[in-house]
Amino acid sequence: MPLVPPYIESLRPYEPGRGIEDTRREFGVTEFARLASNENPIGCSPLALEAMRGCLGELHRYPNGGLDLRRVLAREFEVKVENVIAGSGSEGIMSNIIRAFLCDDDEVLTTEAAFLGFQVLAKSRGVAYRTVPYTDWRYDLSALAAAINEHTKIVYLANPNNPTGTIFTRQEFERFHKQVPERVLIILDEAYFEYAKDNPRYPDSMHYRYDNVITLRTFSKVYGLAGARVGYGFAHEELIANLLKVKLPFEPSAPAQAAGIGSLADKEFVHRSLELNARGLRLLTAGLTELGLDVAPSEANFVMAALPDETEAERVVQELLRQGVIIRPLRAFGLPHCVRISTGADGDNHRCLDAMRKALAGRLVAHE
Ligand SMILES: *Cc1c(COP(=O)(O)O)cnc(C)c1O
Repeated sequence: MPLVPPYIESLRPYEPGRGIEDTRREFGVTEFARLASNENPIGCSPLALEAMRGCLGELHRYPNGGLDLRRVLAREFEVKVENVIAGSGSEGIMSNIIRAFLCDDDEVLTTEAAFLGFQVLAKSRGVAYRTVPYTDWRYDLSALAAAINEHTKIVYLANPNNPTGTIFTRQEFERFHKQVPERVLIILDEAYFEYAKDNPRYPDSMHYRYDNVITLRTFSKVYGLAGARVGYGFAHEELIANLLKVKLPFEPSAPAQAAGIGSLADKEFVHRSLELNARGLRLLTAGLTELGLDVAPSEANFVMAALPDETEAERVVQELLRQGVIIRPLRAFGLPHCVRISTGADGDNHRCLDAMRKALAGRLVAHE
């Protein structure tokens, strides 16, 4: 297809977690435990739904480009409106960053098997995409700093990281930042910020605002609004001003913006979600480790486990589906021997461990 440049032709489209209707039909199971997409198992705040319903009478009007939400976020995080951007999910903003800042000769640098959404977006721009390996399932920030060259334009860091769930510490990030030239833009993807923020070692990027760092956050995870598509970012006002030039003028949609504003008011909902998640993380980490799996220490709302090889990982994913549990294989991310399991409601977490126990029976040597 001569119309399509080779870097588009060779792309594989983002593979989302399995569609629930297809999966129901294929496996004849009616109630699945859906642990593949890091969604909030208790839904979203009733205040988000109320705010969304409240704007439906004005759906024939164009929205204001996220200005209302930017104002609320600026107040909440004590920055200026000029330092905030809102968009169709944090991936919508990521796509604007890639359009606004990358030229043809630039390079993008990140870890191996980085968040799939970023891999797809960056590769679709046709620029060089380089990675450095993980160390113990964590970003190796010293190796990343050493890998920066004169073409490097963007360094992408997710903290906590997806798919590993691990974090890099405040100290590691501060040391890293000192080594990065100012002409390099650091994307700090904090989609799972709320889950990690109470860990004193976690570097909340709002505590030190650097001119070459853009922080991305989302309402898709702890706020339970993945289907609404709303996310936001913080950065120097000049970076934001340039992003606003390329952003679609009417994203986020009016209902998405309203839902975001409504959900920020419900601290109790976030608290309840975090408690459920902490229980789930403890249970899944301990349970999977006991089954003999190598589990990365997670600060997010999912855990990643490594199996002996790709065949075994695929077998386990299929076996769990037959038992009504959907988890995420990580071949598309670049980790074919690993799976990612989101925390669910308490019952679903237990169901997942039971299914895993059956799937692995007699296969792995359990720890003492
Ligand atoms: C889920 C996730 C996002 C969120 O994307 P949205 O577009 O806001 O839904 C961003 N980054 C990472 C690393 C994620 O896991």
